[in-house]
Amino acid sequence: MTQKGKIGVTTDNIFPIIKKFLYSDHEIFLRELVSNAVDATQKLKTVSSVGDFKGEMGDLSIRVSIDEKAGTLTISDNGVGMTAEEIDKYINEIALSSANDFLDKYKDNAHAIIGHFGLGFYSAFMVAKKVEIVTKSYQEDAQAVKWSCDGTPEYTIEKIEKESRGTDIILHIDDENQEFLKKEKISTLLNKYCKFLPVPIVFGKKQEWKDGKHVDTDEDNVINNTTPAWTRKPVELKDEDYLNFYKELYPFAEEPLFWIHLNVDYPFNLTGILYFPRIKSNIDLERNKIQLYSNQVFVTDSVEGIVPEFLTLLHGVIDSPDIPLNVSRSYLQSDHNVKKISNHISKKVADRLEEIFKKERNQLEEKWDSLKLFIEYGMLSDEKFYDRAMSFALVKNIEGKYFTLDEYQTLIKENQTDKDGNLVYLYANNKEDQYTFIDAAKEKGYDVLIMDGQLDTHWVGLLEQKIEKSRFIRVDSDTIENIIVKEETTEVNLTDTQKEALNEVVKSQLPKMEKTEFTVDYKALGENSRPIQITQNEFSRRMKEMSSMQPGMAFYGEMPDTYQVSLNIDHPIIAAMISETESKEKEDLTQYASENKTLHQLIDLALLSNGMLRGEALSDFIKRNYEGLNTDS
Ligand code: ADP
Ligand code: MG
Repeated sequence: MTQKGKIGVTTDNIFPIIKKFLYSDHEIFLRELVSNAVDATQKLKTVSSVGDFKGEMGDLSIRVSIDEKAGTLTISDNGVGMTAEEIDKYINEIALSSANDFLDKYKDNAHAIIGHFGLGFYSAFMVAKKVEIVTKSYQEDAQAVKWSCDGTPEYTIEKIEKESRGTDIILHIDDENQEFLKKEKISTLLNKYCKFLPVPIVFGKKQEWKDGKHVDTDEDNVINNTTPAWTRKPVELKDEDYLNFYKELYPFAEEPLFWIHLNVDYPFNLTGILYFPRIKSNIDLERNKIQLYSNQVFVTDSVEGIVPEFLTLLHGVIDSPDIPLNVSRSYLQSDHNVKKISNHISKKVADRLEEIFKKERNQLEEKWDSLKLFIEYGMLSDEKFYDRAMSFALVKNIEGKYFTLDEYQTLIKENQTDKDGNLVYLYANNKEDQYTFIDAAKEKGYDVLIMDGQLDTHWVGLLEQKIEKSRFIRVDSDTIENIIVKEETTEVNLTDTQKEALNEVVKSQLPKMEKTEFTVDYKALGENSRPIQITQNEFSRRMKEMSSMQPGMAFYGEMPDTYQVSLNIDHPIIAAMISETESKEKEDLTQYASENKTLHQLIDLALLSNGMLRGEALSDFIKRNYEGLNTDS
C-alpha cells in the first residue's frame, strides 16, 4: 500500500527556490549525498562497535553509478538505512525544515551559499525532477521502504522488497542538468569533493588497455584515498609519505621545501598539513592553493580569512569540523573561533621555522631564497609573526653568506655607523649592474647585502621602522662617502656663478632620456675619488618601486626617475673646468661644453657605471674610443 503525504513546510514551493538560488553551484548536490552516505556508514560502524548491531557489516563501499538510458544517477551505501518513521522524521520534517531555513537565510545573497554546507539532502532537487530513496534499516526485521518525490511538496512512501541493508538515493536528472549523467563530469566532481573521504567510494570499474582501447576490468574503481596523510599520526609518517601526499594534491608542482603537520584538538579541532612550496612563477602561486576540508569532505580552496593572509601562499590541507561553513565570508572573518584558528596556524608556522633554524640552519640557508617571500610577507602583515621571525629571518650578502639580523648588526656595527650614530645597511639588487658601486663600498671595507626579492623594498622599510637608528641604502643611491658620512664633510667652496657655469656645461651634455631627469650637485670628495658619479636617490627610487606594487600609489610610478650627477670639485679635471668656465658668457659655455671631449668621456663613463649608457649613446662611445686608439698609437 502506498502512503501519501504532504511535506510539512511553510513555503509551499521550496523546490523552485532550490533550483533558482543555487543555480551556479548545482554540483554540490553530489558532495551532500555522498557525505550522507558516508555518515550512514560511519553510524553503522559506531552501532556495531557498541554492540547494537550484531550482523555482518560486509563491504561498506559507497557506489555511485549512472544509468544514462534511464536518466538516473544513484548513490548507494550499506550504512544504517532508514525505517519509514525515520524517513518521516529526518527527511520529511527535519531535513526539509533545515533546507527551508537555509534558503530563507540566503535568499538575498545567492553568493554566500556557494560552496557551503547546509542544504543537505534537498540539494538533490537542484538537478533532479524526481528523487527516490530506497532504504532498509540495519535494525532487525526492518521493513524496506521507498520514498519518492517529484519536486512538488507531495511525496509517496511505500513498502518494498530490498535484500540488502542500506540506502540507494536515485536521482532522475532533469532536462537542464543532463551533464550529470556523463561519466567524465561525475568523475571530475568525485575527484574534487570526495577524494579523501574516509569510506571507499566506487565509481565504475578500473580500466585496462586491451586490443587498442580502454576496457573495464573486474576490479572496482575506488576514487578516494580513505586515510590521507593529514589524518594519520605524525610519528607514523616518513618524509616520503609527506612528499607523496603533496604529489597527490598537486601532481604538477615541484617538490616542496618544508611542511608542518597541524594537529590540534583544543580549543578547537583542526588537522592538516601545510607545505612551503618552491615557487617558480606567479602562475604556481595562483594555481595551487590550500584546500579546506570538513571531516575529509572538500569544502573550498578559498581560505582567505581562515588562514593568515601571508600563509595563503602555502599549499596543503586544513581540515576542521569547527569552522562554520554555512556562513558568509565576512562573518567568517569576524568569527572568534576562526580568528583563533588563524592565530594558531601562524604560531605553528613560526614554531616550525624556528625549529628548522635551530636544528638545521644549513637547510634553512639552502632554501632561504625560496622561503624568504613568505617570511617577509608574514613579517609585513602580522605583528606577532614579525616578533617571532626576527630570530630566524636571514639576510644574504653579495658573497652569498647568510646572517640573522642580529649577527649582521654585529658584523657591520663598527665600520658602518655614521657620524650621527645611524647603522647603515648597504645593499644591491643586482650584482652585475651595480658592480662599480659595490666595489667602491668594498674598498672602504663595507659589507653589501643582496636584496633582489619582490618584497625587499617593503621589508627594509619595515626594518628601518622597527630597528632603531638603522638605515638601508642601496649602494648606487649616492657616492659612498655620502652614504655613510663618517665626519663632517669638507665644505664645497664654490661661488654661485661658478656653480651656475658648471651646471650649464654639464647639463647641456647629458643625454635626453624618456622619463628621466638629472640634477647636478657638487661635492668635495678629495682628489682621488671619481670626478663624476651618477646616483639615484634612495627615497624616490623606493617610492617608485613600492608604487608599482600598490595600486593607490600609481602616481609615483608616473613620475620621472631623477638622478644626481655629482661633480667632485677636488678632482683635477673638474677643478680645471671650474677655472675655465667661471668667467664665460652663457652662449660660450655651451660651445665650450660641446667641444670638451674629456667632459663627454667622464659623463659617459659615469653613465656606463650605472648601466645607463645604452643604444646609440653606447655605440657612439665605443666608436669614439676606437678612434682614440687609432690616432694615438
Ligand atoms: P544532515 O546530513 O546535515 O543531517 P541532510 O539533509 O543531508 O542533513 O540529511 C538529513 C537526514 O537524513 C540525515 O541526518 C540522516 O538522518 C538522513 N539521511 C540522509 N541520507 C541518508 C542515508 N544515505 N542513509 C541514512 N540516512 C540518511
Ligand atoms: Mg547531509
